Amino acid sequence: MMHKEHNIISVSGGKDSTALLLLAVEREAENLQAVFADTGNEHDLTYEYVRYLEEATRVPIRWVRADFAGRIAGKKEYVLAKWAGKGVPQADIDRAAAALVPTGNPFLDLCIWKGRFPSTMAAFCSAELKRDPIVKQVQTPILAAGDDVRSWQGVRRDESLKRRFLLELEQVIVKHPGELWNYRPILDWTAEDAFAMHRKHGIKHNPLYEMGMGRVGCMPCINCRKDELLEISRRFPEAIDRIREWEAAVASASKRQAATFFAMANNGDSVTPARAMAISNIDAVVEWSLTSRGGKQFDLVRAMDDGLLCSSIYGLCE
Ligand code: SF4
Repeated sequence: MMHKEHNIISVSGGKDSTALLLLAVEREAENLQAVFADTGNEHDLTYEYVRYLEEATRVPIRWVRADFAGRIAGKKEYVLAKWAGKGVPQADIDRAAAALVPTGNPFLDLCIWKGRFPSTMAAFCSAELKRDPIVKQVQTPILAAGDDVRSWQGVRRDESLKRRFLLELEQVIVKHPGELWNYRPILDWTAEDAFAMHRKHGIKHNPLYEMGMGRVGCMPCINCRKDELLEISRRFPEAIDRIREWEAAVASASKRQAATFFAMANNGDSVTPARAMAISNIDAVVEWSLTSRGGKQFDLVRAMDDGLLCSSIYGLCE
């Protein structure tokens, strides 16, 4: 029996996934379904843009969100049952247990559960907030019902070494009756090709590109460049205010009582968690973003200087 094929496009609000959606429309891909994984850390302009895209292309875009309520409850139980045995003072146990409460915001809840923010070295955010909800909520039911999924991924070879050697079409082994195929039709496109696709279809691009953002996604992304962070702090100070509140919430839920959005200091015994938090919290990093290359620098967050690309090969984050 022939399996029915479903073409699933992950839309992020960025130029590549928009170009991908337009390509799928152009090719009249059958059973086309667009999906937007809402991290809870997007700019309002991106939310507006995704709604605009749905209206302009007439392709329904399904929104999915990760839910960490169960895992936060499990962590709270663990903290109450085990931390005392590990020598954690009762006051710290009480503080963490009181902070282990889901907020309904996927990004914040992920960090409350983990007791830390993701980092360039431990970029669990893309998988937890984007890949897994799409796999679980959208792809798995189709595959389990015996239909096939062609998962379109908006990755380009010129973005990174990791992406350079990807195949255009690749079957993923799954434990379901249906087949899952990764499809990367814009591998050899340039960024300009992606913008040209917008113009060809009379579709606007995300306005954030005209506001100093090199990529569109979380606001800010853990991988954002120094100059992007500076732009964000100038144009969207409310995004910095939000991160400041999140740092306090995640620190309360963590054993170290410290958590910073950008990679925290880890340069020796002399730096206590409190000191590390003081020198690499969001305000300190924004202050650093104001410095020129020759100015005062925070070694601890130097990795941001080059604006590392999300290492995910799925193209879920730009
Ligand atoms: S955009 Fe950045 S912070 Fe957001 S999920 Fe992707 S890698 Fe993580």
